[in-house]
Amino acid sequence: MTALLDVRTLRAGYGSINVLWDVDLTVQEGRTTVIVGPNGAGKTTLLRAVMGLVKTSSGDIALHGESLARTRTWDIVDRGVVMIPEGRMVFPDMSVLDNLLMGAYPRSGRPRWKQNLERVFDLFPRLRERRSQMAGSLSGGEAQMLAMGRGLMEEPKVLLIDEPSLGLAPVIVDEIFKILADLKAQGLTVVLVEQNTSRALAIADHVNLMRSGRVLLSRPAAEVNLDRLHDLYFARET
Ligand code: ATP
Repeated sequence: MTALLDVRTLRAGYGSINVLWDVDLTVQEGRTTVIVGPNGAGKTTLLRAVMGLVKTSSGDIALHGESLARTRTWDIVDRGVVMIPEGRMVFPDMSVLDNLLMGAYPRSGRPRWKQNLERVFDLFPRLRERRSQMAGSLSGGEAQMLAMGRGLMEEPKVLLIDEPSLGLAPVIVDEIFKILADLKAQGLTVVLVEQNTSRALAIADHVNLMRSGRVLLSRPAAEVNLDRLHDLYFARET
């Protein structure tokens, strides 16, 4: 089966500093692929490299078997790869509705924007209630929902989500993971970067553990033991 997204022996970094060392990542269609790992492991850098936002020095990234090398970020988005960045990055001085409509701006999101908006409002009723409110006045959880809704407006084939639970109260994290489970049930392909290993493992089909710019473990979630994962995560002697 051809992977939807296939990263092969990727090296990438910032200027002369290399961060990713021969990273492989296979993302199958309709699955939730999770990337866990400590701070500075290179998880965000990997997502940014997929989006064409970080310079790669070797290896390849392919979508449906077609290389994304030398593809501009906006073309990568148009081909269906959408990233929801850490920190949400909503436009604070624009309304919730206008933030969502910004997500319909890429070519892929335009024709069905009304249906997509209804789908987002059905998934996130709170965004429907707050559609006229400025995004800057939302709570952290609502801003995360808005960032996810904006990503869905782009009709992603694969949604890359960077640390959606960061800084949120546990009850809100529950809501975010419930939405991720709904998206999975709807068949969306998701790559989730998450520090909360137990929650990530609960939703994952496939788990990757990164440390120091390398993938140390890549396994079906059913074969991953949380204690063993934590041993690798914290590099305790086992
Ligand atoms: P975190 O959970 O802290 O976000 P991460 O696994 O996502 O961790 P990255 O953010 O990808 O890790 O960072 C990997 C390495 O790249 C770190 O050593 C970091 O200092 C470095 N790095 C990240 N962004 C930049 C940048 N813009 N310029 C230079 N180095 C960077």
